[in-house]
Amino acid sequence: AEAGVRARPDARALADRDRARLLHPFLPGEQHSRIVMVEGEGCRLRDAEGREYLDATAGMWLCQVGHGRREIAEAAAGQMRTLEYSTVFWDYTHDRAVELAERLVGIGSDDTRRVFFTSGGSEGVEIALRMARNVHHRRGEPDRTWILTRDSAYHGAGYASGELSDFPPYTTGFGPHPGQVHRLSAPYPFAAGEAPEKATDLLVHELESAIDRIGAHRIAALIGEPVLALGGMVAPPPDYWPRVEQVLRRHGILLILDEVVTAFGRVGHWYAADRIGVRPDLTVLSKGLTSGYFPLGAVVTSEDIARTLGGDGGFPVGHTYSGHPVGCAVALANLDIIEREGLLDAAERAGARLGEELRSLHDIPLVGGTRQYGLTAAVEIVRAPGSRDPLPEGTYAIADQIRDRTGVLVRGGPRALTVAPPLVLSDRETTEIVAAFGEVLSGLP
Ligand code: PLP
Repeated sequence: AEAGVRARPDARALADRDRARLLHPFLPGEQHSRIVMVEGEGCRLRDAEGREYLDATAGMWLCQVGHGRREIAEAAAGQMRTLEYSTVFWDYTHDRAVELAERLVGIGSDDTRRVFFTSGGSEGVEIALRMARNVHHRRGEPDRTWILTRDSAYHGAGYASGELSDFPPYTTGFGPHPGQVHRLSAPYPFAAGEAPEKATDLLVHELESAIDRIGAHRIAALIGEPVLALGGMVAPPPDYWPRVEQVLRRHGILLILDEVVTAFGRVGHWYAADRIGVRPDLTVLSKGLTSGYFPLGAVVTSEDIARTLGGDGGFPVGHTYSGHPVGCAVALANLDIIEREGLLDAAERAGARLGEELRSLHDIPLVGGTRQYGLTAAVEIVRAPGSRDPLPEGTYAIADQIRDRTGVLVRGGPRALTVAPPLVLSDRETTEIVAAFGEVLSGLP
C-alpha cells in the first residue's frame, strides 16, 4: 500500500467508537453516526462499506475542484517539508501569504485591496465586524455600532456571527448575545409571496426606514450573502444589491459581503461581487478558497479601511493560524486548478444545464418551484400543491431519503432542498442529480 494510506476501517466498529468519544455538531442525541466516508474523487465519495455517493453539496459547498486532487496534496506536503508554520503577526511574514494575498487581489476587479487571513468563515465574519466597528471608532464615530443583517442569513457559529444568522439553534439556550443587530427581510420573493419585480422596491424602502429609525450615525455596517446559501440558495433580483449599496453609501454605512460560499467560481466569477455589481468595503472568504483541502479564510478590505486600521498601533486582532503557510500553499494550488481548467465558465455552463433539467420536476405536486444561479440550485418543497407554505419540519428528512435511496448528497433546509456541486460536474452527473430528486419527490405523500 502507498505510504500514509490507511486500511479501510470497519464501519460498524468505527461508528461505535465514534459514539463513545465524539460530540458532533447537529447530531440529535438519540441518533449516531452511520456513514463513514473514506475516499473521494471528482464529484464522487465512497464510504467504508464501499457505497458510492454523488456529492451534489461539494462537501459543505466548498469543494470547487472536486475531491482527490493529488496536486493539492503535493502542494501541502511540499510546504510542510519547507516551512510548516510561521506567523504573520507583528513584523513576520512569509512568501506563501504574500503570494496568496496578491493573487486574491489580482483576481478581483479592484486591485487596491488588502487581505487579512483567518482560519474559516465564522472567524472571518467576526474579524469583519471588529474591523467595521473599529474603523468608525478610529474615524471619530464610535456610536456606529449597530449591524444590519437579513432573514434567512447564515454568517457563522460565533456569538456575533451566530446572532447575525437567522438560525434558531444558535440563538436559543445560549444566553445573551452581543446585541445591536437589526434584521431586515430577505430578498426571497418566493417565500414572501411577492412578485420579484416589486421585491427590490419594498426591500429598499424597508432598509431606508430602518436607517431612519435607528439613526445612520449609529449603524456600522450591513452584512449579507450575495446568494443566501443556508437560507435556500436564494439569489436576489438583479437590481437589489446595487440599490442597497447606494443607500448604504449615502449614509456612510459599510457593506460587508459574506462570500464564504459564493466566491471562487460558485456563481461563475472569482467573486460574486463582480456579478452582482457592488464594491464591498469588506469581503469575507473561506470554503472555496482551498476547496476544503485545508481550513483557511480571509477578509479582503478596501484600501481605505486597510489604511485606517493599519494606522495608530495597527489592527490589534489576530489568530494563531492567520496566514498558515500550508493553507496558503493549498489555496494557491487550488486557484491554479480553477484557472487552468477554466472552472468559472464550466460552473456557469453546468449551472445553466442543471437549472434547465430541474424544470422537469415542476409537475411534481409538492414542488413549489426550482431556481438556479451559477452552480447553485434549489427545489422549493411546499406543504400542498399551489401553496408557498413550507413543510413545518423543513426538508432535512427528504434530503436524508434522497441520500439513502439514490446515493446523491443534497442539503435540506427550512424550506428548500439545495445543491452546490463541485465545479467539475459533468453532464451525466447533472442528469443523475435531477433523476434522484425526481425519484424521491414524486413518491412524496
Ligand atoms: N458565511 C456563510 C455564508 C456560510 O455559509 C458559512 C458556513 O457555512 C459561514 C459564513 C461560516 O463559515 P465556517 O463554518 O467556516 O466558520
